[in-house]
Amino acid sequence: MALNIILLGPPGAGKGTQAARLVEEAGMVQLSTGDMLRAAVKAGTPIGLQAKAVMESGALVSDEIVNALIDENLAALSPDQGVIFDGYPRTAGQAESLDGLLAGHGRKLDRVIELAVDEDALVDRITGRFSCAQCSTPYHDRYNRPEVGGVCDLCGSNEFKRRPDDNEETVRTRMAEYRAKTAPILPLYDTRGLVARVDGMAPIEEVGAAIDRILAG
Ligand SMILES: [Zn+2]
Repeated sequence: MALNIILLGPPGAGKGTQAARLVEEAGMVQLSTGDMLRAAVKAGTPIGLQAKAVMESGALVSDEIVNALIDENLAALSPDQGVIFDGYPRTAGQAESLDGLLAGHGRKLDRVIELAVDEDALVDRITGRFSCAQCSTPYHDRYNRPEVGGVCDLCGSNEFKRRPDDNEETVRTRMAEYRAKTAPILPLYDTRGLVARVDGMAPIEEVGAAIDRILAG
């Protein structure tokens, strides 16, 4: 039976990595609202044209358009393909619609998996990271310094780079946005006993194993 799950987690929690792994290893399909919108606009479908007009006017795309997109994408799947919803639902109304949309395709929501992070630890993880400007080998100020200070272990380069977004203020702002986004839907799914929390701060392999156990259970 194909599983239908919602994957939640703030930027930096490893959501992208885990979703990519489930797509690769479990043959699941990732349905992200942003990707679906872009694809529909590019393909010039009737919904895409509607969405394009709305986005060009600067307004938010309505729930109706988003629901129509989800419906269309679910219809294109084979019954044995599981689905990972990413960035959706964002409101209680969308969460309610999702149940109906899934039911219309003989599916139901099986799990909501949240990659939980400790905010201070996340700030620590993200603000310390840098990489070699030549070969992109990743390093960290506190946990993974080059063996010889200022010299890349792998290629010997003296040049390193940091992403401008990797600062405390940006990380804390993103966390606040994430909490605001999930606040309307997490309690709903908690009440229904669907939420499973995984420690997003654990090593990638452990996070993956924990998710697999939840999905197998
Ligand atoms: Zn290097």
